[in-house]
Amino acid sequence: MTSTSNTIASQYLCARCGDTNQRRRVRWPEGFVCRRCYQRATRCRGVCPCCALPNRLLPGLDTRGKPICTDCAGIDDPRLTCTRCGDQDEPHRRGLCARCCLTDDLTDLFTAPDADEITPELQPLLEALTTQENPRSAMIWLRNPDVLDLLTGITTRRYPITHATFADHTSPRIGRHLRDLFVRCGILPAYDRNLDRFTSWIDTKLATTDIRQARDTIAGFANWNHLRKLRTRAERAPLPEGAILSAKQEITVAIDFVNWLHNRSLELGSATQADIDTWIATGPTTRSSAMMFVRWCTRHQHMTPDLIFPHRTSRRTPVSSDTDRYTQLVDTLQRPDTPIWVQAAAVLLLVCAQPVTRIAALPLDVIATADDGQVMINFNADPLSIPASLAAPITALTRRRPHMNTASNHTSPWLFPGRSPGQHLNPQTMMKQLRNNGIDLIGARNSAMRELLRTIPPAIVANQFGFNPGTTERHALTIGTAWSAYPTLHENSEP
Ligand SMILES: [Zn+2]
Ligand SMILES: [Zn+2]
Ligand SMILES: [Zn+2]
Repeated sequence: MTSTSNTIASQYLCARCGDTNQRRRVRWPEGFVCRRCYQRATRCRGVCPCCALPNRLLPGLDTRGKPICTDCAGIDDPRLTCTRCGDQDEPHRRGLCARCCLTDDLTDLFTAPDADEITPELQPLLEALTTQENPRSAMIWLRNPDVLDLLTGITTRRYPITHATFADHTSPRIGRHLRDLFVRCGILPAYDRNLDRFTSWIDTKLATTDIRQARDTIAGFANWNHLRKLRTRAERAPLPEGAILSAKQEITVAIDFVNWLHNRSLELGSATQADIDTWIATGPTTRSSAMMFVRWCTRHQHMTPDLIFPHRTSRRTPVSSDTDRYTQLVDTLQRPDTPIWVQAAAVLLLVCAQPVTRIAALPLDVIATADDGQVMINFNADPLSIPASLAAPITALTRRRPHMNTASNHTSPWLFPGRSPGQHLNPQTMMKQLRNNGIDLIGARNSAMRELLRTIPPAIVANQFGFNPGTTERHALTIGTAWSAYPTLHENSEP
């Protein structure tokens, strides 16, 4: 009796896990193997470390506990061989391996009820799914009702094979996953996920936004300028989020721009430079995002072709304080080693608010001395008189211009002759010299212009100093805004 009870006990002892409570499954050379250990063993594949054969089922164990193939382990179990394909695997159903079962299931799924064969477009998907690493997980995935809905819908042609079918599906996650799969199989053309979202964003934006004029122009800008460009770009590499964001911003601001014009009873086609300058000057910095739209419109005859939409160089216009500017001027004029031409250029920049590119190219004859000795300068229309204290470096310059000893230069027509014969001074050279003298080129010039505008109306400043009327208008508006923000100060400053 003792021997019998020993036999029973050993029958139920799993040779692998030592558990006696699991249901036994098979008897292998090492002893009984429980269900749980059998399943684990028959799902292990790879190169057998014993015989070095690749892609083997590795249910056995060598002396060190490493998984080895059936031949090396001496496991002779016909159930581990698929009755159809001959591959070794844990039997999944009726002597068939998981892969053969998956092939059967997918063939059923991809065949419409009234058809003899699978829907031909789905053939590449069938191949992709049945050759994947783990057929078992594919079978589990196929039980998902959303997956089934999409796949049967496509099989029976209830759903067309388009990106929209997946994009509009009630389960976005499954839709996305299947869509990617369809693209990878070549059933659907490639798409960029960001581009795709952007496309539907444009549709929604155009359909739901109050666009008070030029709707077709806005749509053209969105589709032809942005979408087409991004599509081309997406063919080369995935679109970065930033590209989409700035495209959205430009379209949104373009709509704001046409509506803003409409509210001022202006039509897009007849908007002027002053309108554009006012748009930029009187709103948040995001307004400069209308630049692409305006440029596109001028190129495509939706707006007057000679309009200029300036590039935004910084978030706000840099402006030096008057004190800083005066200090820069006085320092430059008083430093004994400063060349006379640099002193003259400093006056023209810091007092007359002229841009360096224009200063460098001033002809000699802009300077004139009136009968009463008053030095006059003519930037644009009427000659302006220069205060005597500031005129000195300019009159000195007319007598001692630089680079005049070059043979070919003594008839130079320029106020600032350059080193090269017949040329005026290179503006870059001038900028460098002015900067070396501690002058903040942009900030100080803007400060000078604002000083002019505090006493002279913008249109006159523009005319006399040769500025773009939009620029003076913009500066004047900014000063106005600053003043109105301090009503008490404003009141107190007036008698
Ligand atoms: Zn076990
Ligand atoms: Zn082996
Ligand atoms: Zn098989």
